[in-house]
Amino acid sequence: MKDVPDTETKNANEQLVAPQSIEPARESVPAAMPRVVIVGAGFGGLHAARALRNAPVQVTVVDRNNHHLFQPLLYQVATGVLSPAEISATIRSVLSKQKNAEVLLAEVTGVDVEAQRVLMHDESLPYDYLILATGAKDSYFGHNDWAAIAPGLKSIVQATTIRRRLLLAFEMAEKETDPQKRQAHLTFVLVGAGPTGVEMAGAIAGLAHKTLVADFRHIDPREARIVLVEALPRILMPFDERLAHKAHTALTQLRVEVRTNSPVEAIDSEGVIIAGERIAARTVIWTAGVAASLAGQWLGAETDRGGRVKVGSDATVPGHPTIFVLGDTASFTQDGKPLPGVAQVAIQQGEYVASVIADRVAGKSHPQAFRYVDKGNMAVIGRFYGIVSIGKFRTAGLLGWFLWLVLHLMFLIGFRNRLVVAFQWLVYFTTFQRGARLITFEDTSRRQ
Ligand SMILES: Cc1cc2nc3c(=O)[nH]c(=O)nc-3n(C[C@H](O)[C@H](O)[C@H](O)COP(=O)(O)OP(=O)(O)OC[C@H]3O[C@@H](n4cnc5c(N)ncnc54)[C@H](O)[C@@H]3O)c2cc1C
Repeated sequence: MKDVPDTETKNANEQLVAPQSIEPARESVPAAMPRVVIVGAGFGGLHAARALRNAPVQVTVVDRNNHHLFQPLLYQVATGVLSPAEISATIRSVLSKQKNAEVLLAEVTGVDVEAQRVLMHDESLPYDYLILATGAKDSYFGHNDWAAIAPGLKSIVQATTIRRRLLLAFEMAEKETDPQKRQAHLTFVLVGAGPTGVEMAGAIAGLAHKTLVADFRHIDPREARIVLVEALPRILMPFDERLAHKAHTALTQLRVEVRTNSPVEAIDSEGVIIAGERIAARTVIWTAGVAASLAGQWLGAETDRGGRVKVGSDATVPGHPTIFVLGDTASFTQDGKPLPGVAQVAIQQGEYVASVIADRVAGKSHPQAFRYVDKGNMAVIGRFYGIVSIGKFRTAGLLGWFLWLVLHLMFLIGFRNRLVVAFQWLVYFTTFQRGARLITFEDTSRRQ
């Protein structure tokens, strides 16, 4: 990696407010080394960067956050089982030993395709190859006003917001004397019964019915009502019907009310309206739709209905052989169907794109098209119950939970994180105690 000029080392904050000073340094990358810019250090971007470690290229990873986030465990942060740092790893530390990679903390705002430059607020970055791996955001199906009432679960900020609202709901109920208002505080509605909604519902049930039981004097947290709402006829569409049915039964046993065929008609500060029925609830969580990031708009490329960029068989944007789009931002069709927005798609595409670039830089062609190998789906419902579908193998129950546990630990980035999370789980699964039940406020003057 190139030496960092003195001006860059003075003060990291200065870099952000006076970014022009770092532009000449980026221009000074040796011309002989092709510049690969990767936007987004999620599953796809980070795996692409690491797979380029031995290639004769200069890699720059740009992300608006300084950390890689393990999204599959976000719901455990939202429900106080884990702390944010335990499911994150700083991008710099992940790439610190990779000499041909550098990291830039910045928000990308566009791409100048003609000039081959990535645009940020006050600076731009030249590239020879560009990998866009900027993930997805929540989609409220045209009801953007619902976002403030019903936060989604895609970032650490959203997870700690949900945690605050969940824990505050019990505190408010403890102080409330009106039975109807108290019940509204103790009613939690989750909109969307995909894997995230199902896992969240099970975790909230554990929080209310087990963890908090002895902690309050004026309410019984077991009176909490947890409603999981789904517009489609059944929950967990990525799983086959038999496993989804078992998960439905497991949720019911945890006293989660599952409402299928129930599209949400309205969400406001008093609760939700589902199929004409109002449910009074002070906490509503959005686990329904997602839409791709803005990469399609940056490129002016053709997108699908979810805003995902339609890419060719080598993950490049048609007409732009040096621009790759992958993971949740890309719409890749395999065997006539678009690939799902899951971590394995992003990881495999990241590694594939790196191999294409490495071959091209070496002057070789890369004839193979990308092909996704489905490694299966899994979800966990409460304690000791998981559903797993890998190829023809299906299981539900303790074995499913155990496989979920082992695989999530394996894929978590960082040895320290694996160790800490394993310990937290040991405590949680044996005692129901959750170590991260903090109510944190961004602005103490605005406590509700
Ligand atoms: C709550 C939740 C649970 C999930 N559970 C599972 C699961 O159990 N199994 C599974 O396989 N998948 C799961 N997924 C899906 C999986 O996490 C995604 O498919 C995967 O993260 C996609 O990887 P990606 O690289 O495309 O994007 P991401 O991992 O989302 O990374 C995108 C990166 O781009 C950065 N970025 C975005 N915009 C900009 C910008 N303008 N400028 C700079 N940087 C930017 C972001 O900061 C982020 O680091 C879950 C997702 C969520 C939200």
